[in-house]
This record gives sequence, C-alpha cells and structure tokens, in this order.
Amino acid sequence: MNKTIIIANWKCNPNSLKEAKNIFGKIKKSLSRFKKIEIVVCAPFVYLFSLKNIAGGNILLGAQDVFWEEGGAFTSQISSLMLKDAGCKYVIIGHSERRRFGESDVTINKKIKKAISFGLNVIFCVGETKEEREKGRTFEAVSGQLKIGLGGVSKNLTKNIIIAYEPVWAINPGKPCLYDDAMTMNIFIKKNLVKIFGKNFSQKIRIIYGGSVDSQNAKDYIEKTLMKGLLVGSASLTEDFIKIAKKI
Ligand code: PEP
Repeated sequence: MNKTIIIANWKCNPNSLKEAKNIFGKIKKSLSRFKKIEIVVCAPFVYLFSLKNIAGGNILLGAQDVFWEEGGAFTSQISSLMLKDAGCKYVIIGHSERRRFGESDVTINKKIKKAISFGLNVIFCVGETKEEREKGRTFEAVSGQLKIGLGGVSKNLTKNIIIAYEPVWAINPGKPCLYDDAMTMNIFIKKNLVKIFGKNFSQKIRIIYGGSVDSQNAKDYIEKTLMKGLLVGSASLTEDFIKIAKKI
C-alpha cells in the first residue's frame, strides 16, 4: 500500500543554498517522524547535491525536470543518471510552467520513458489551461496529454509514475479548483489510464492534486477528491508546508 505523498515544488526558489538547506532542514526535523506520509522536495538542480546529505527516511529529494538523452553534446541539459547521482528519487515532468516555455507532449513522453527506465519516479503533470476550460475542452486537453505523454511506456514501469492533476488556472495562486471538479478529473484520469494500460496496470499509478493547496484546504483535497497526495508550489517554501503535511 502506497503512502500518501506530499510533494514540494520549490520552482526557481530560494535564492541561496543557505536558505535551501534551512528550509529543507526544517522539513526534515518536523516531518521525519510522520512515517505514514512520504515527503518529496523538488529543488532547483544546483541545490540537489547539498540536500542529498540531509534527505533520507520519508523525506526524499526530487528534481523539476530532466533531459531525455543519457548524456552528450546537449548544452545545459541534465540527465537521469546525473539526477540519480545527486540523490534524486523523483522528478517532475511536464509542469505547466515548462509547457508554457514550449515543452511539448512529445518531449514530455521522451523524458518520462527515459527517467523511468533509470529507476526515477516520475511526477507527470497534466491539466487544462484557463482558455481550454472556458472553451469546454478540459477533458480533451487532459486525455491528449495522457495519451501522448504515456505513449509507449512499459506497463512494468507504471508503478514508477504519479499523475499530478494541476488545473493551470488554479496554480500560484489561482482560482480554487472545486473538490467535486478535482474528483471528476481523478475519475476521468483513471478511465484514461485503463484505456492506455488496461485495468490492472492503471491501478498502480497514483493520482495526486496540485493547485493553490495550503494548510486550510489540504485535508479536504485528500478526503473529498480521493487523491493519493498533493503537489504544493507556493506554500512549499513556508512553514505552511509543514502544517499541510501534519494535517494529512
Ligand atoms: C505548482 O506549481 O505545481 C503548484 C501547485 O503551485 P501552487 O501550489 O503555488 O499553486
């Protein structure tokens, strides 16, 4: 049985290693005895090696992106092997803030396949934009992201994938996503996974929620949407992250 997972996405923060160690250290100190939850901190690349020494137990390290090649002449890119060496167990792929800068479903698919083949756990973000939602294209957008993103993924490796439903309009800080809407998307994503992998395989993939989660709404997002965890952006750099995890 998988534990509930709470993932911090620090994005392009904080601005110094000192602060990064400080925030990570507080998370470790406050939450390492909460063994029933798994905490993952997805930090900027430059902090990973230093945080590797503090991570451990139920407090794990993740990255916010990865390249699809194993190495070579790819200036600025970071490979799955580098992430593993830096202590990462998880990597976010397909975050809407990467999609906004031109990340496509096809490159997301390449990244997912490579990362899971090296044993990384992938947090695959899907979600409709405000415009897609207003045009009534939410289901079409999310099923398209799932179909292309997971195309050709080995069924044996599906246990290494978490799907994060993140409605783009609800992120940082956005309009709150109603619990019923998040629940509807949870069911919809499960149905799509059945289409892609078949009944038994789809059950191995955890579905989590992200978008303006804080300590006031975290418990409700878990209980009222049946999501298996939360992806937390803004609140993950503050004391509220610790409160969120303690409430679960
Ligand atoms: C995110 O960017 O993944 C996210 C969920 O951000 P926030 O919690 O700030 O909405």
